[in-house]
Amino acid sequence: VLSSVGKGIVTSSIGKMLQARGFKVTAIKIDPYVNVDAGTMNPYIHGEVYVTDDGGETDLDLGWYERFLNINLCTHNNITTGQVYQAVIEKERKGDFLGKCVQIVPHVTNEIKHRIRFVANEFKGDVVLTECGGTVGDIEGLPFLEAIRQMRLEEGFENTLYVHVALVPILDVTGEMKTKPLQHSVNELRRIGIQPDTIVARCKEMIDTESMQKIALFGTIPENAVFCSYNVPSIYQVPLTLDKQGMGNYICKRLQLPEHKPNWNDWKQFVESALNPNYEVKIALVGKYAGLADSYVSMNEALRHAGAACQARVSIDFIEAETFERESSALKRLQNYDGIFIPYGFGPRGTEGKMKAIRFARENNVPLLGICLGFQLAVIEFTRNMCGLEKANSTEIDPETPHPVIDLMPEQRDVKHKGATMRLGAHKLVIVKGTMAHQLYGIEEIYERHRHRWEVNPKYWDTLEKHGMIFSGKSPDGQRMEILELPNKFFFLASQFHGEFKSRPGKPDGEYYGFIKACLLYTSDAADE
Ligand code: GLN
Repeated sequence: VLSSVGKGIVTSSIGKMLQARGFKVTAIKIDPYVNVDAGTMNPYIHGEVYVTDDGGETDLDLGWYERFLNINLCTHNNITTGQVYQAVIEKERKGDFLGKCVQIVPHVTNEIKHRIRFVANEFKGDVVLTECGGTVGDIEGLPFLEAIRQMRLEEGFENTLYVHVALVPILDVTGEMKTKPLQHSVNELRRIGIQPDTIVARCKEMIDTESMQKIALFGTIPENAVFCSYNVPSIYQVPLTLDKQGMGNYICKRLQLPEHKPNWNDWKQFVESALNPNYEVKIALVGKYAGLADSYVSMNEALRHAGAACQARVSIDFIEAETFERESSALKRLQNYDGIFIPYGFGPRGTEGKMKAIRFARENNVPLLGICLGFQLAVIEFTRNMCGLEKANSTEIDPETPHPVIDLMPEQRDVKHKGATMRLGAHKLVIVKGTMAHQLYGIEEIYERHRHRWEVNPKYWDTLEKHGMIFSGKSPDGQRMEILELPNKFFFLASQFHGEFKSRPGKPDGEYYGFIKACLLYTSDAADE
């Protein structure tokens, strides 16, 4: 019925319910916008770009699938209008449709079905979850819904299941649950030719019997096919709440999958540790897209996974970096936190403010974790204030800087196209023995995901190291600096890669775990124990 209603979480939860019963599942996100991928979209409007192992710049829902299902997806798991049309037009130019008039039905819909089946065939699992973004009735979404409609004809009723997720608002004035928007979106879906098999009502509270009956009646489905995703303290509880309502069994029966008792042991254990922590840590996330939590969703989750592993509730305050540029006294606010986190970012806005926060962390020995741009800014701040090169900068921020300590990677210099041209995806890195990074990862070779164009300029490696910065992670050829640390600080570590993309519930990434552990020790309560 509208975007951001929680389809991603419902899709991930359905996957989890099937996985808990021993079935192998994968997931596809369809984004009907015309962009080829999410890489060229502003995170402030669309939320973060999720990077897959193979370097796909994808929708953030893939992050939820990976986190819930503990699987690694790839570029093909995110289908967009841009990709579909690009492929169809390429075929047309090659002459594959020679003599024919190329049309949305069947050529575009065939391409969509081909892409869904491609994932299914490659994956060889039991169930492919396909989530269609946007709202029923959107112009962009129509060819996708048409393809999905056709798939039932081709794959058979027992092999396909349609789930409709719709918002049931509660009116402030009367406290009444309103199913009308849902009734309308079901009607719209039926007009397109899709009769949902099950409906998930997204509501603040568990829907009442009357609403449930109305949804079943107007949706033309039995009451036991209506489920409710209501607000819960942790998003990771959603699969448990839906399964309790019978959704897992319903889906298995409907898809004629053998009946298996779900095993929730590990999942419940994680949820339990997330919900009942012994400690609390307060983190200041100093960013540029602080107004939209979705811009930092994977970082947010990675911090929480690390928290759960340390029995700590992580509360995160999103602080606009520019606050520190306007008034230096605002920095005092940072005294109230157990750790400072500097996230990714693009372009100059807010960078001076972030560097002030980094300097504050360094000088006051507050635990600091920097990711990607956060890593680069930690290098710049150190060059300016510890190596005496006051005008040091990144050429991304100041192309005229006399000390380009962060510079474009050589292979990026002639790149003109913006789409899919950064250094992307999982790359191997080597960890230097005896460092904090080595302690955290425990091994000497790791693979982590990247998304950047700039890096530490080799001309400054010596200067930085001479003044006490250690590069504890490097690319295998030693040509790229990947992790930095300041050994004389309590915890001051930053990485060029994004550990958050590999963080999972119950399996936090090393740098996030190390950071939260340090924040915890930094707070006096925990240190006393
Ligand atoms: N803008 C920087 C670069 O392109 C950092 C990117 C990031 O933080 N993901 O290198």
